[in-house]
Amino acid sequence: MKPIYLDNHATTQVDERVLKKMMPFMMDKFGNASSVDHLHGVEAKKAVEDARKEIADLIGARPAEIVFTSGATEADNMAIMGSIDMGDLKNTHIISTKIEHKAIINTLEYLERLGAEITLLDANEFGEIDLTQLQKEIKPNTKLISVILANNEVGTIQDFEGITNIAKENGIKVHFDAAQALGRVKIDVRKTPISMLSLSAHKIYGPKGIGAIFVNKDRPRVRLNPILFGGGQENNLRSGTLNVPGIVGFGEAAKLMKKEYNQSKKKYLEFRRIFEKELEGVNYKINGSENRLENNMNIWFPGVEAQALIRLISKNISLSTGSACTTDHVEASHVLMAMFNDEARAFESIRIGFGRFNNETEIDEAVVLIKSGVEILTARFVD
Ligand SMILES: *Cc1c(COP(=O)(O)O)cnc(C)c1O
Repeated sequence: MKPIYLDNHATTQVDERVLKKMMPFMMDKFGNASSVDHLHGVEAKKAVEDARKEIADLIGARPAEIVFTSGATEADNMAIMGSIDMGDLKNTHIISTKIEHKAIINTLEYLERLGAEITLLDANEFGEIDLTQLQKEIKPNTKLISVILANNEVGTIQDFEGITNIAKENGIKVHFDAAQALGRVKIDVRKTPISMLSLSAHKIYGPKGIGAIFVNKDRPRVRLNPILFGGGQENNLRSGTLNVPGIVGFGEAAKLMKKEYNQSKKKYLEFRRIFEKELEGVNYKINGSENRLENNMNIWFPGVEAQALIRLISKNISLSTGSACTTDHVEASHVLMAMFNDEARAFESIRIGFGRFNNETEIDEAVVLIKSGVEILTARFVD
C-alpha cells in the first residue's frame, strides 16, 4: 500500500483525463507547433491554441495574454527580470513580501546584489500583508510590486484586489504568483487589472515542467522583455520549441479545475471538519487565516518536532513541513518565521494539502495516525 498523499501543495497527481489528452501528442501527433507548413505542425499548433484558450478562460484573460513557460519558477523570474529595466537597476525599487516562494525571493536577492533596492513587506500572524505598509513603502522609483496570491505553506489568500488598486493608483506594475491560487481563487483579470500572473500546471493535476505567465495587454500595457533568447517562439517572449504535450495537459487541467473546483471545495471543508473533530482535546493551533485555500491545513503541535512526526508516520502518510524546496536544509520556514517569529513553532508545524484524489476513508485514517504520532512524541518528554 502506498502512503496516503497529503502533500498537494508540493505537487499533484496527473489526472487520468489529462494524461489521456496528452498521449497522442507524445505519439503520432508529435509535430512542432512552429512548423505550420504541414499537417503535423498544424495539428500541434491547433492543440496549443486550444489549450491557451482554456487557461485564459480560467482567469478571464484573452488567449494572446498567455505565454507558456517551463513552470511558475520561470514565470516568476520573467515577471521580475523581464518587466524592469535590467540596465538601470540602481534606479529600481521593487516591493515584495517576506512570505514568497523561493522563485521570487532568490530572484530578488540576485537583483539586490546587482544594485536594485528591494523592500519585503511583513506578514501578520494570519499570513496577511498590510496594505497600509504597502502604501507607505512606495517610492518614486518603485517599478514593481510582486506578491504571492495564495501562500504555498499556510494557504493565506491576499487581498489581491486591494493590492492591485494601490499599484494602479500609483502607476506601478503588479505581479502575483498564482501557482497555488489558479483555479482555487476566483480571479478575473478584466475586473482586477493585474499586470502579470505566474501559473503552473502541476499544482492543478497537470504535468510537471509546464506553466505560463499572464501578461495584461490592456492599457497601460505591460511591456515584457524575454529572459530566454532563441527562435522567437511565443511572440518573441519565450524562445524554445513548445512543449506541446505539456501544454495540452495544462489546458485540460485548467478546464477540469474550472468545472470541478466548487465541488472539491466542499469536500476539503468536510476533510477539515473531520480533522478538527478528531483533534479535539489535542494541543494544536492552525497556522493561517480563515481566508485561506480550502485544501490547506498547516498545524502546529506545540512540543512535537515536525520532522520526527513526519518520519514516524511516513510509511503511511506523505506530508511535509513547509516548502518542499527547503526540506533538505534544516532551516525554519521563512513563512512561519515571518508570521510568528518563533523558531519552535516553525519547527513544530506540519503542512497538510488535500487533493482531488483523497477520499474520506483516507482522511479518517490519516488523522488517527497523526494523532497517535503526536501522542507518542509528546509522551517521550513526560516523566
Ligand atoms: C510550486 C510553486 C512555484 C514553482 O512552480 P514550478 O512550476 O514548480 O516552477 C512557485 N510559486 C508557488 C507559490 C508555488 O506553489
